[in-house]
Amino acid sequence: MSLNNTKLPEEHPDDWGDISDAELLNLQSEHLVSSVRCSVTSEAEAETHFNQKHEKIPKLKAGFFLKVKARWSQDVSIPNVRPMDRFNKSHFSVTQLCAHSWCEIHMIYGLLKPQVRRKEMQRKEVTTGASIHLSREREAHPNVLKVPVITREDKEAVLYLSMLQKIKAIHAGQHVREFPVFGVLEGMFLSGIVDDLRRSDSGELALSDLKTRKHNSFPCPSQARGHFLQVGLYKLLFDSMVSGQLDRGRIILYLQARWLKLQQALGDRVQEQAKTMGYSAATLEELLDVLLAVLASSNIQEVNKLHVEYHHQSTGSHIGTSKVEFQETQLKTELRGYLAYWRGEREPQGVDIEDAWKCTICPHEEICDWRKGQTTDYSNKRAKLDSPNSSLSGT
Ligand code: SF4
Repeated sequence: MSLNNTKLPEEHPDDWGDISDAELLNLQSEHLVSSVRCSVTSEAEAETHFNQKHEKIPKLKAGFFLKVKARWSQDVSIPNVRPMDRFNKSHFSVTQLCAHSWCEIHMIYGLLKPQVRRKEMQRKEVTTGASIHLSREREAHPNVLKVPVITREDKEAVLYLSMLQKIKAIHAGQHVREFPVFGVLEGMFLSGIVDDLRRSDSGELALSDLKTRKHNSFPCPSQARGHFLQVGLYKLLFDSMVSGQLDRGRIILYLQARWLKLQQALGDRVQEQAKTMGYSAATLEELLDVLLAVLASSNIQEVNKLHVEYHHQSTGSHIGTSKVEFQETQLKTELRGYLAYWRGEREPQGVDIEDAWKCTICPHEEICDWRKGQTTDYSNKRAKLDSPNSSLSGT
């Protein structure tokens, strides 16, 4: 049996499109918010107007307007603004970070042009993939107990109850699907959902991720790289959770960044469900403490095997399973490299010439300066090779 919620309240938008910074909250003035939003068409005018009316709030001036400007810009990079600040990111999902391995410019266009990203997500291949995932989840947990939720805190609490139930199942050697993982890696809070955890016949714990593919074949190495990174990061997060290394303070900050009220009373049905499972918790914070205590005292072993399972979308047939070698040092170096972009320590990179085929299926090909630069580079190289004076021309 698995737990689910019957009503899913909308998450607070954790996206950069909303001007929901701490700065704005601090203003505590509807009038100010509307004046800023309405006058952004003329930025200089807005800043002057703002400064004249609100001289007493100097701390907001430069940083605030730089941030608004950065968010309205469609440029891939903005000098002197960290992408984390520009896109309002204080934590990341593992899948978000894995998007780097496809193309960093594509990932940024996805944030700048959410309508294009939404269209990409509605593609038949994506929706078919989602339904294959759902049917696998139902196979593993045919009896779903629905718990009515009213608030977003209830929804998060049901997620923790589901985790508590799955921890018991792992202890009992049962097969578990959709296990949430979170924690801090390389100084950043990351979260994700592990597709599949099961014990092998030899007693080892295997972690798998299910990927569905349009083509009935394994992906090319540049595609598979992101998949291998994903399962490696899941292992690091899972292992630190079951070894009691979670940092309570960072989790609280993560929940607060999502605007969850930790001390608000949970709904009656959620509290009842917790009691039925043998836990006493009236608020999300209390339930978090229960979860942390259970994880810290669990003697679940670390993940021993990593797999990526590929299925064909139209037939549902199993293409094959890649066994992934866990290389911690390499994985952490890659992660640090991706985070360096978000921390403003380097510029984003598009695809290399050998992966230029990705551009031919990219919705941003027409506007992508990286692509234009690569085409020019390629033409220059080609011209050099074709030149009769070139030592590489083969003539
Ligand atoms: S056109 Fe190519 S380089 Fe540009 S965003 Fe798309 S995949 Fe990346």
